[in-house]
Amino acid sequence: MIYFSTNKSSVPVSIKKATLEGLAPDGGLYVPSEIPHFSPEEIALLEGATFNDIAFSIAKKFVGSEIPLDQLSDMIESCYPFETPIIGLDKKTFIEELFCGPTLAFKDYGARFLARLTGYFAAEAETPVTVLVATSGDTGSAVAYGFQGIPNTRVVLLYPSGKVSRLQEQQLTTAGGNVYALEVKGDFDDCQRMVKHAFIDPDLKEKLTLTSANSINISRLIPQSFYYAWATLQLKELYGFNEPVFSVPSGNYGNLTAGILAKRMGFPIGHFIAASNANDSVTRYLDEGRYDPRPTITTCSTAMDVGNPSNFARLKYFYGNDHVSMGKDITGIAVTDEETLSTIKSVYERFEYTMDPHTAVAFRALEKYRSSESRHAKNASIVLSTAHPAKFLEVLQNALHKEIEIPTRLLEVLEKKKMATMISSEYSELATFLNELNQS
Ligand SMILES: *Cc1c(COP(=O)(O)O)cnc(C)c1O
Repeated sequence: MIYFSTNKSSVPVSIKKATLEGLAPDGGLYVPSEIPHFSPEEIALLEGATFNDIAFSIAKKFVGSEIPLDQLSDMIESCYPFETPIIGLDKKTFIEELFCGPTLAFKDYGARFLARLTGYFAAEAETPVTVLVATSGDTGSAVAYGFQGIPNTRVVLLYPSGKVSRLQEQQLTTAGGNVYALEVKGDFDDCQRMVKHAFIDPDLKEKLTLTSANSINISRLIPQSFYYAWATLQLKELYGFNEPVFSVPSGNYGNLTAGILAKRMGFPIGHFIAASNANDSVTRYLDEGRYDPRPTITTCSTAMDVGNPSNFARLKYFYGNDHVSMGKDITGIAVTDEETLSTIKSVYERFEYTMDPHTAVAFRALEKYRSSESRHAKNASIVLSTAHPAKFLEVLQNALHKEIEIPTRLLEVLEKKKMATMISSEYSELATFLNELNQS
């Protein structure tokens, strides 16, 4: 399998290069030259398969012969030792809980696969890889726990001191081993500036192989298609439903783009709802055909506060830049904070189910979609739940006025010893840290 850049002016590359590079040299995002296809017979054969078997059958089509199959299979097993439950709220409404991994958010699916592929390709190239990430919270923790203990890799995370929640800070600073946290006396923009500087520093380039693990990496996207395939097969097998609608809480639109991959592969998906908060650039594009990104607005579903989503480049590419054809697969629906909070409450009252604010955005968007005339409005539907409610205690307490139960694995993280190196926002301090790390 060959990967192209969405900007079309870089040379096509292998999955190895696309994974280690992240972004294409022309500034575009990598996409597969053709999306692998599953025939209806192949899909029928997957009915009753485990999550990991489905994941393996998809991964092998994207990775081709570049990783021996037995090793790819082992990687998948070690990626997903946790469940992906699908909970029925009523006869036609299902929640796919994507928060059962180590950091209690769906970013574990992408980060853990990316980590293993990076480790494998780094070993092949006989150069250890240093993953450098600036984070304001959730991506960093998924990367920290995803790469923890992966040979031939080490992770250096930069986060702004005092500007992440205590839980996030604990998740960022307790992985240990090959994961190093740098607490920067500055804000998130300082962290990003320092990381960007490191990538263009000729002195570092000579000594280190640097890579980023941000959400544009194709090897973070591919594994997110696994849970769409799994959900369509489970719904068919357990309830006899075909062509479900997926409601996807969206920020950078990686999750939704992975769903489009799954549909193009042939998995029977009826329609997608791109659920957004007040950051509605893509929703407006779907309505008006004009892409006019605006500055980011802060909402109570913070992980979706993205004014100019990076994966929009891939969506446009897949639909030949045509918003009408994109609209045949995707309906964009924006949800206000007020609606999000009242949805958390009403879902709890109706179903005794506690959902996090991101999931609530997707649930509310589905309700709006169902009251429309759309062709798939009456289909069985799956809301992707991207985070465990305990990760957003304040919002939940605000909406429900009750204590939220905290799962033990979260409590355990809170008790671990924080390990971080404090540095200033001067680039030279980051360079010194990386140089010393390289010599140790
Ligand atoms: C990152 C994130 C999202 C948004 O996902 P995208 O792939 O960026 O659209 C939604 N919910 C949670 C909890 C997240 O962490």
